[in-house]
Amino acid sequence: MSSQNYKAYSSSSKSIQNLETNKFSSPKKKLGEWQVNKEQCLGCGLCESLCPEIFEMKDGKSQIKNGADFDKNKTCLIEAVEACPAKAIVRQ
Ligand code: SF4
Repeated sequence: MSSQNYKAYSSSSKSIQNLETNKFSSPKKKLGEWQVNKEQCLGCGLCESLCPEIFEMKDGKSQIKNGADFDKNKTCLIEAVEACPAKAIVRQ
């Protein structure tokens, strides 16, 4: 694994850990805001397929929909974060 890939993987793993921490240690705490790193995004569309309430494709890259409800869609959000081949979905 290259250092750049490891950095992206490590960053995303921390995002997932933070998400899980929030989920289990403070159920009432909101999940926070998420973003797609457009430089890392490969434009594969997997996140949109897994979680269309949160992600949409624009100009060949994924982006977070306006008004996306992360708490309501946390199951598919977690799936998309874990499935993203570029680890481009990160917490702000
Ligand atoms: S799954 Fe990852 S690489 Fe694919 S479109 Fe979504 S953010 Fe981009």
